[in-house]
Amino acid sequence: MNNVLKIFNTLSRKIEEFVPINNSQVGMYTCGPTVYDYTHIGHLRKYVGDDILRRILVASGYSVKHVMNITDVGHLTSDEDLGDDKLEKGAKDRGESVWEVAKFFEEYFFKSTNLLNILRPNIVAKATEHIGEQLKLIEKLEDKGFTYQTPEAIYFDTSKYPDYGKLTGQKLEDKKVGAREEVKVDPNKKNPRDFALWFFTVGRFSNHVMRWSSEYGEGFPGWHIECSAMSMEYLGNTFDIHTGGIDHISIHHTNEIAQSEAATGVQFAKYWVHHEFLFVNGEKMSKSKKNFYTIEDIVNKGFDPLTLRYLFLTAHYRDKINFTWKSLEASQNALNNLREIVREWSIDNEKVAKEVYDKFMDTLNNDLNTPQALAVMWGMVKSDLETSKKAGTILGMDKVLGLGLEEYISKKIEVPAKIMKLVDERENARKSKDFEKSDKIRKKIKDLGFTIKDAFSGPTIKKD
Ligand SMILES: [Zn+2]
Repeated sequence: MNNVLKIFNTLSRKIEEFVPINNSQVGMYTCGPTVYDYTHIGHLRKYVGDDILRRILVASGYSVKHVMNITDVGHLTSDEDLGDDKLEKGAKDRGESVWEVAKFFEEYFFKSTNLLNILRPNIVAKATEHIGEQLKLIEKLEDKGFTYQTPEAIYFDTSKYPDYGKLTGQKLEDKKVGAREEVKVDPNKKNPRDFALWFFTVGRFSNHVMRWSSEYGEGFPGWHIECSAMSMEYLGNTFDIHTGGIDHISIHHTNEIAQSEAATGVQFAKYWVHHEFLFVNGEKMSKSKKNFYTIEDIVNKGFDPLTLRYLFLTAHYRDKINFTWKSLEASQNALNNLREIVREWSIDNEKVAKEVYDKFMDTLNNDLNTPQALAVMWGMVKSDLETSKKAGTILGMDKVLGLGLEEYISKKIEVPAKIMKLVDERENARKSKDFEKSDKIRKKIKDLGFTIKDAFSGPTIKKD
């Protein structure tokens, strides 16, 4: 292990040195999408952040087991068990079944993340395929006395768990549920902060489409329980890193910790990594404000999708980022410029400028400082290092940055048609064993500024 990662842990509110539970494999869990609507660029910022973290760990020599959930059960429009079911609302809006809606938006999610070179998690776990695991966890909580039942749902009793709220540092009494007038609250809930583990398909939920039978009665799981059940299923009761957006801290992740640790009696995730929001023209993105963009919108305006990835890297993950078309244009220029430069480099020789690469990794290991890492990268690009070394170094850097530069380096030259014709002529001469002619053509090609090399797969041409 060359580099030691230092990362801000929301749990301690400090930058900590990352010490894995098990040296050979790091377990990382990411809260995935709720598949009832289009993935927008605010979501994508979060997933690029996770992707960078994962790539840094891999570049530092760890193997990473990355698990992400897909919330396809549908949960309520508010994080706090209030409002309508998001998936059913999506289905109603689109005139499709909830299953069709979930499938469509899951595919849309992965199409979007692929365009941004976001590595697919090793395990993608759908909530609907893990109902049994969720029920088992609920049973465990019930056995230990952490639950109570109303006609409407089974709740986690937060008064039984004194550490509730340790992620936010918030006192229990401070937490109020945003009891807006339009929302319906179960009148039998003991405490506003208690949250549902299992809803029964009765009353306001009697028409709920997705439903499963259980020993408690027919119903569907609450949102929070799926992440606890699936992360522990694949990563164990205690695992290394849990990630998500900052909007998850106060409710979703707080509830995940409470129910997981209440059930197992041991620490849930050791490091909590949270990504800041993306703003658009200085405003928070929201569906209702109609100021949210998808990667499709970016592409339709003529931008390369990786421009957005580059833009995200120019800001620290714990800082807000303000998206404007102008800032995207600046990123497109920078990325184009970089591609033009690396196009001229030779991939022949994968030498690495170790010192500058180490500096780059040190920067990233310092709480994922991507803006500074880009500065180190550009410093190297503009330095007077020999280009073969630059090429090797940037390929190493790009394993973390994920800007797809390799493609540009390997394709670095466009061979003019005239040269290609000579190459073909020479191949024919070689095949008919006319080596004198083939040598003559080789020299002619050399005079025109290209070198030809013979390989098993055929000749390769490089610009001198
Ligand atoms: Zn989650």
